[in-house]
Amino acid sequence: MDKQSIELKVENLTTRFGEGLNSVTAADKITFDLHKEETLAIVGESGSGKSATALSLLRLLPPSGKIIDGSVWFESKDILTYNSEQLQSIRGNKISMVFQDPMTSLNPTMTIGQQIMEPLFLHLKLDRKMAKQRAVELLDIVKLPNPEGKMNSYPHQLSGGMKQRVIIAIALACSPKVLIADEPTTALDVLIQAQILELFDSLKKKINLSMILITHDLGVVSGMADRTLVMYAGEIVESGPTQELLNSPLHPYTVGLLNCRPRRVGGQKRKRLTEIPGTISRNDTQGCSFYSRCSSAMDRCKTEKPPFEMVSPGHSASCWLNDTN
Ligand code: SF4
Repeated sequence: MDKQSIELKVENLTTRFGEGLNSVTAADKITFDLHKEETLAIVGESGSGKSATALSLLRLLPPSGKIIDGSVWFESKDILTYNSEQLQSIRGNKISMVFQDPMTSLNPTMTIGQQIMEPLFLHLKLDRKMAKQRAVELLDIVKLPNPEGKMNSYPHQLSGGMKQRVIIAIALACSPKVLIADEPTTALDVLIQAQILELFDSLKKKINLSMILITHDLGVVSGMADRTLVMYAGEIVESGPTQELLNSPLHPYTVGLLNCRPRRVGGQKRKRLTEIPGTISRNDTQGCSFYSRCSSAMDRCKTEKPPFEMVSPGHSASCWLNDTN
């Protein structure tokens, strides 16, 4: 991949929550490239550091979170060095974010139309007529029925799936280069989840968009993401082309996540998930962070940290099982 095809370059991004002995490194030396027009998925359980990574990219962390190291290169500049005015100029404009919960992402006191037109006034300086036209067009792009009529609706008048479509329309309003979607379907029921994922897929084909999709569900990334990063305890433990990673996972944690995917039984019902035993804990070993939960663990895993190494072209993992030396 040549340098020209990289949209966003993340280097050694390290984010910590809390102070002193109680602090937790939520994202530890996270490094990856987002290529132009690709969808990159970041997958992991709750607490793996995937959302902390996403929020760090646009410096949207809560007050307890702090970026302590790293760079995020966009248009040849490190956006982590931007002042708040510079950041404001790219947030929701060149880089947009869609959050998990459509219920809390919209302002209940403003109409849908007002909320979509807001970034158009702010970033594109459109006049009212142009902004209205663009807002209707955006609602049509996200396949909201009766887009013109919905302009005057308030969020409480829409279903959860419709609200998420409006949020996606707002995120796309200024034709961003990068869209970061943090668990965009988690708060929705299964049928609506599938419709929203279908929408993302069709948008990706229609618009020249590079996308980071954050999810806990490896089932979601299949067919959606070109490449996938798997995070565990704040670290990337595996990365590779999505189909290869799903078909030939290199890290036992990825295998565990694959076994957690809901499966259809009898065409309709969903089989119970097989959970990975234990929970994510940090700093309890000098060796592999997955040691306490890994059914393939060996003695050396407890004391020696496995390096993150390429095993086949573009496919890397940190696990001693892949050590050929
Ligand atoms: Fe399991 Fe060892 Fe691999 Fe860690 S390094 S994932 S403990 S086998």
